[in-house]
Amino acid sequence: MKNVVILTGAGISAESGLKTFRDSDGLWEGYNIQDVATPEAWEWNPTLVQDFYNMRRKSVLEAKPNAAHYALAKLEEKYKVTVITQNIDDLHERAGSKNVLHLHGIITRSQSSKNPNLTYPIDGWELKMGELCELGSQLRAHVVWFGEPVPMIDKAAQICSQADIFMLIGSSLAVYPAAGLLNFVPAYVQKYVIDPKIPSVYGIESMVRIEAKAAIGVPRLVEELLK
Ligand code: NAD
Repeated sequence: MKNVVILTGAGISAESGLKTFRDSDGLWEGYNIQDVATPEAWEWNPTLVQDFYNMRRKSVLEAKPNAAHYALAKLEEKYKVTVITQNIDDLHERAGSKNVLHLHGIITRSQSSKNPNLTYPIDGWELKMGELCELGSQLRAHVVWFGEPVPMIDKAAQICSQADIFMLIGSSLAVYPAAGLLNFVPAYVQKYVIDPKIPSVYGIESMVRIEAKAAIGVPRLVEELLK
Protein backbone atom coordinates (compact mmCIF):
# COMPACT_ATOMS: atom_id res chain seq x y z
CA MET A 1 0.00 0.00 0.00
CA LYS A 2 1.30 3.44 -0.88
CA ASN A 3 1.91 5.89 1.90
CA VAL A 4 -0.02 9.18 1.65
CA VAL A 5 1.10 11.91 4.03
CA ILE A 6 -1.07 15.01 4.38
CA LEU A 7 -0.17 18.23 6.16
CA THR A 8 -3.25 20.29 6.98
CA GLY A 9 -3.71 23.79 8.36
CA ALA A 10 -6.57 26.05 9.41
CA GLY A 11 -7.80 26.36 5.78
CA ILE A 12 -9.21 22.83 5.70
CA SER A 13 -11.60 23.72 8.51
CA ALA A 14 -12.58 27.12 7.09
CA GLU A 15 -15.66 25.71 5.34
CA SER A 16 -16.71 24.09 8.60
CA GLY A 17 -17.04 27.62 9.96
CA LEU A 18 -13.76 27.76 11.92
CA LYS A 19 -11.80 30.87 11.01
CA THR A 20 -8.16 30.79 9.91
CA PHE A 21 -6.10 33.65 11.21
CA ARG A 22 -3.84 34.85 8.46
CA ASP A 23 -6.87 35.52 6.31
CA SER A 24 -8.00 38.09 8.88
CA ASP A 25 -4.96 40.35 9.28
CA GLY A 26 -2.99 38.18 11.67
CA LEU A 27 -5.76 38.19 14.23
CA TRP A 28 -7.39 35.04 15.56
CA GLU A 29 -11.10 35.68 16.09
CA GLY A 30 -10.26 39.34 16.76
CA TYR A 31 -7.40 38.65 19.18
CA ASN A 32 -3.72 39.34 18.78
CA ILE A 33 -2.05 35.93 19.14
CA GLN A 34 0.52 37.37 21.57
CA ASP A 35 -2.35 38.09 23.97
CA VAL A 36 -3.91 34.63 23.91
CA ALA A 37 -1.54 32.00 22.54
CA THR A 38 1.78 32.38 24.39
CA PRO A 39 3.10 31.26 27.81
CA GLU A 40 3.50 34.99 28.66
CA ALA A 41 -0.19 35.62 28.03
CA TRP A 42 -1.07 32.73 30.35
CA GLU A 43 1.18 34.17 33.04
CA TRP A 44 -0.18 37.69 32.60
CA ASN A 45 -3.89 36.98 32.20
CA PRO A 46 -4.82 33.29 32.58
CA THR A 47 -8.55 34.00 32.72
CA LEU A 48 -8.48 35.75 29.32
CA VAL A 49 -6.52 32.84 27.80
CA GLN A 50 -8.81 30.25 29.37
CA ASP A 51 -11.90 32.10 28.10
CA PHE A 52 -10.42 32.44 24.61
CA TYR A 53 -9.85 28.68 24.34
CA ASN A 54 -13.24 27.94 25.90
CA MET A 55 -14.81 29.93 23.05
CA ARG A 56 -12.68 28.13 20.47
CA ARG A 57 -13.68 24.78 22.00
CA LYS A 58 -17.35 25.75 21.89
CA SER A 59 -17.06 26.59 18.17
CA VAL A 60 -15.19 23.35 17.45
CA LEU A 61 -17.86 21.26 19.21
CA GLU A 62 -20.57 23.03 17.19
CA ALA A 63 -18.70 22.61 13.87
CA LYS A 64 -19.00 19.62 11.56
CA PRO A 65 -16.40 18.07 9.27
CA ASN A 66 -16.69 19.20 5.64
CA ALA A 67 -16.25 17.40 2.31
CA ALA A 68 -12.45 17.76 2.50
CA HIS A 69 -12.18 16.00 5.87
CA TYR A 70 -14.48 13.20 4.65
CA ALA A 71 -12.57 12.75 1.38
CA LEU A 72 -9.28 12.27 3.26
CA ALA A 73 -10.91 9.57 5.41
CA LYS A 74 -12.12 7.83 2.24
CA LEU A 75 -8.57 7.74 0.90
CA GLU A 76 -7.86 5.02 3.49
CA GLU A 77 -9.80 2.56 1.28
CA LYS A 78 -6.74 2.32 -0.99
CA TYR A 79 -3.79 3.94 0.83
CA LYS A 80 -1.99 4.03 4.13
CA VAL A 81 -2.85 7.58 5.15
CA THR A 82 -1.30 9.76 7.84
CA VAL A 83 -2.74 13.20 8.50
CA ILE A 84 -0.37 15.61 10.22
CA THR A 85 -2.49 18.55 11.28
CA GLN A 86 -1.60 21.94 12.70
CA ASN A 87 -5.24 22.29 13.68
CA ILE A 88 -6.43 22.02 17.23
CA ASP A 89 -9.92 20.91 16.16
CA ASP A 90 -10.95 17.24 15.97
CA LEU A 91 -12.69 17.36 12.58
CA HIS A 92 -10.33 14.87 10.89
CA GLU A 93 -11.13 12.28 13.57
CA ARG A 94 -14.86 12.97 13.41
CA ALA A 95 -14.77 12.49 9.63
CA GLY A 96 -13.22 9.06 10.17
CA SER A 97 -9.46 9.51 9.63
CA LYS A 98 -7.77 6.90 11.80
CA ASN A 99 -4.22 8.11 11.82
CA VAL A 100 -4.04 11.77 12.84
CA LEU A 101 -1.04 13.44 14.43
CA HIS A 102 -1.81 16.75 16.13
CA LEU A 103 1.32 18.88 15.95
CA HIS A 104 -0.19 21.69 18.02
CA GLY A 105 -2.36 19.68 20.38
CA ILE A 106 -6.13 19.26 20.46
CA ILE A 107 -8.58 21.61 22.11
CA THR A 108 -10.95 18.91 23.34
CA ARG A 109 -8.34 17.89 25.94
CA SER A 110 -6.85 19.77 28.88
CA GLN A 111 -3.28 19.70 30.10
CA SER A 112 -1.46 20.32 33.35
CA SER A 113 0.24 23.70 33.44
CA LYS A 114 3.17 22.01 35.23
CA ASN A 115 3.69 18.92 33.09
CA PRO A 116 2.55 19.04 29.42
CA ASN A 117 2.55 15.23 29.27
CA LEU A 118 -0.40 15.08 31.65
CA THR A 119 -3.52 15.52 29.49
CA TYR A 120 -7.18 14.76 30.16
CA PRO A 121 -10.49 14.69 28.27
CA ILE A 122 -12.77 17.69 28.86
CA ASP A 123 -16.43 17.17 29.56
CA GLY A 124 -18.24 19.84 27.49
CA TRP A 125 -16.78 23.12 26.27
CA GLU A 126 -15.76 24.89 29.45
CA LEU A 127 -12.52 24.49 31.37
CA LYS A 128 -12.81 26.48 34.59
CA MET A 129 -10.24 28.33 36.62
CA GLY A 130 -9.80 26.25 39.77
CA GLU A 131 -9.90 22.91 37.90
CA LEU A 132 -6.60 21.26 38.79
CA CYS A 133 -4.43 18.43 37.46
CA GLU A 134 -3.21 15.58 39.66
CA LEU A 135 -0.15 17.68 40.59
CA GLY A 136 -2.41 20.44 41.90
CA SER A 137 -1.74 22.94 39.09
CA GLN A 138 -4.35 24.75 36.99
CA LEU A 139 -5.61 22.91 33.90
CA ARG A 140 -5.21 24.73 30.56
CA ALA A 141 -6.07 23.81 26.98
CA HIS A 142 -3.93 21.03 25.45
CA VAL A 143 -2.48 23.23 22.71
CA VAL A 144 1.04 24.25 21.79
CA TRP A 145 1.50 28.00 22.22
CA PHE A 146 3.87 30.19 20.22
CA GLY A 147 7.25 29.91 21.93
CA GLU A 148 6.63 26.40 23.30
CA PRO A 149 8.38 23.27 22.03
CA VAL A 150 6.51 21.09 19.51
CA PRO A 151 7.01 17.60 20.94
CA MET A 152 5.64 15.73 17.90
CA ILE A 153 7.83 17.44 15.31
CA ASP A 154 10.50 14.70 15.06
CA LYS A 155 7.86 12.01 14.59
CA ALA A 156 6.14 14.18 11.95
CA ALA A 157 9.43 14.71 10.10
CA GLN A 158 10.06 10.97 10.05
CA ILE A 159 6.55 10.33 8.66
CA CYS A 160 7.15 12.95 5.92
CA SER A 161 10.42 11.26 4.96
CA GLN A 162 8.51 8.03 4.22
CA ALA A 163 5.79 9.54 2.01
CA ASP A 164 5.02 8.16 -1.46
CA ILE A 165 2.44 10.89 -2.08
CA PHE A 166 2.29 14.20 -0.17
CA MET A 167 -0.47 16.82 0.13
CA LEU A 168 -0.43 20.25 1.72
CA ILE A 169 -3.91 21.61 2.41
CA GLY A 170 -4.92 25.04 3.72
CA SER A 171 -1.76 26.23 5.43
CA SER A 172 0.08 29.52 4.94
CA LEU A 173 3.28 27.74 6.08
CA ALA A 174 4.08 30.74 8.23
CA VAL A 175 4.32 28.80 11.50
CA TYR A 176 7.58 27.00 12.31
CA PRO A 177 8.68 24.28 12.87
CA ALA A 178 5.61 22.86 11.04
CA ALA A 179 6.50 24.76 7.84
CA GLY A 180 9.91 23.05 7.75
CA LEU A 181 8.29 19.62 7.36
CA LEU A 182 8.22 20.12 3.58
CA ASN A 183 12.01 19.73 3.59
CA PHE A 184 11.70 16.16 4.86
CA VAL A 185 9.58 14.97 1.92
CA PRO A 186 11.92 13.32 -0.60
CA ALA A 187 12.34 15.18 -3.91
CA TYR A 188 10.94 12.34 -6.09
CA VAL A 189 7.60 12.21 -4.20
CA GLN A 190 4.45 13.39 -6.03
CA LYS A 191 3.30 16.50 -4.14
CA TYR A 192 0.05 18.48 -4.26
CA VAL A 193 -0.96 21.79 -2.72
CA ILE A 194 -4.62 22.71 -2.30
CA ASP A 195 -5.40 26.27 -1.28
CA PRO A 196 -7.41 29.12 -2.85
CA LYS A 197 -4.38 31.39 -2.24
CA ILE A 198 -1.32 29.18 -2.59
CA PRO A 199 1.45 30.60 -0.39
CA SER A 200 4.67 31.50 -2.20
CA VAL A 201 7.16 29.77 0.02
CA TYR A 202 10.24 27.72 -0.79
CA GLY A 203 9.35 24.17 -1.86
CA ILE A 204 5.90 24.97 -3.29
CA GLU A 205 7.24 25.28 -6.86
CA SER A 206 7.72 21.50 -7.10
CA MET A 207 4.07 20.80 -6.21
CA VAL A 208 1.02 20.24 -8.39
CA ARG A 209 -1.10 23.34 -7.72
CA ILE A 210 -4.80 22.98 -7.05
CA GLU A 211 -5.96 26.54 -6.54
CA ALA A 212 -9.31 25.85 -4.89
CA LYS A 213 -11.11 25.74 -1.58
CA ALA A 214 -10.47 22.49 0.28
CA ALA A 215 -14.08 21.26 0.12
CA ILE A 216 -13.90 21.41 -3.70
CA GLY A 217 -10.24 20.58 -4.41
CA VAL A 218 -9.69 17.73 -1.96
CA PRO A 219 -12.63 15.49 -2.99
CA ARG A 220 -11.62 16.01 -6.63
CA LEU A 221 -8.03 14.94 -6.03
CA VAL A 222 -9.08 12.01 -3.83
CA GLU A 223 -11.41 10.79 -6.58
CA GLU A 224 -8.44 10.80 -9.01
CA LEU A 225 -6.23 8.92 -6.55
CA LEU A 226 -8.91 6.28 -5.89
CA LYS A 227 -9.37 5.49 -9.60
P1 NAD B 1 -3.19 30.22 8.48
O1 NAD B 1 -4.38 30.92 9.02
O2 NAD B 1 -1.87 30.84 8.66
O3 NAD B 1 -3.38 30.03 6.89
C1 NAD B 1 -4.58 29.54 6.38
C2 NAD B 1 -4.37 29.05 4.96
O4 NAD B 1 -5.58 28.44 4.54
C3 NAD B 1 -4.06 30.17 3.96
O5 NAD B 1 -3.01 29.76 3.09
C4 NAD B 1 -5.39 30.34 3.20
O6 NAD B 1 -5.22 30.77 1.86
C5 NAD B 1 -5.93 28.94 3.27
N1 NAD B 1 -7.39 28.85 3.13
C6 NAD B 1 -8.36 29.75 3.47
N2 NAD B 1 -9.59 29.26 3.19
C7 NAD B 1 -9.39 28.02 2.68
C8 NAD B 1 -10.27 27.01 2.20
N3 NAD B 1 -11.60 27.17 2.19
N4 NAD B 1 -9.72 25.85 1.74
C9 NAD B 1 -8.37 25.66 1.73
N5 NAD B 1 -7.50 26.58 2.16
C10 NAD B 1 -8.00 27.75 2.63
O7 NAD B 1 -3.25 28.75 9.05
P2 NAD B 1 -2.06 27.72 9.42
O8 NAD B 1 -1.03 27.72 8.36
O9 NAD B 1 -2.75 26.45 9.79
O10 NAD B 1 -1.39 28.33 10.74
C11 NAD B 1 -2.22 28.79 11.74
C12 NAD B 1 -2.02 28.24 13.14
O11 NAD B 1 -3.24 28.60 13.81
C13 NAD B 1 -1.94 26.74 13.26
O12 NAD B 1 -0.85 26.46 14.03
C14 NAD B 1 -3.21 26.31 13.98
O13 NAD B 1 -2.90 25.58 15.17
C15 NAD B 1 -3.89 27.56 14.44
N6 NAD B 1 -5.35 27.62 14.06
C16 NAD B 1 -6.09 26.48 14.09
C17 NAD B 1 -7.43 26.49 13.72
C18 NAD B 1 -8.21 25.19 13.78
O14 NAD B 1 -7.84 24.30 14.54
N7 NAD B 1 -9.28 25.02 12.98
C19 NAD B 1 -8.01 27.70 13.29
C20 NAD B 1 -7.23 28.87 13.27
C21 NAD B 1 -5.89 28.80 13.66
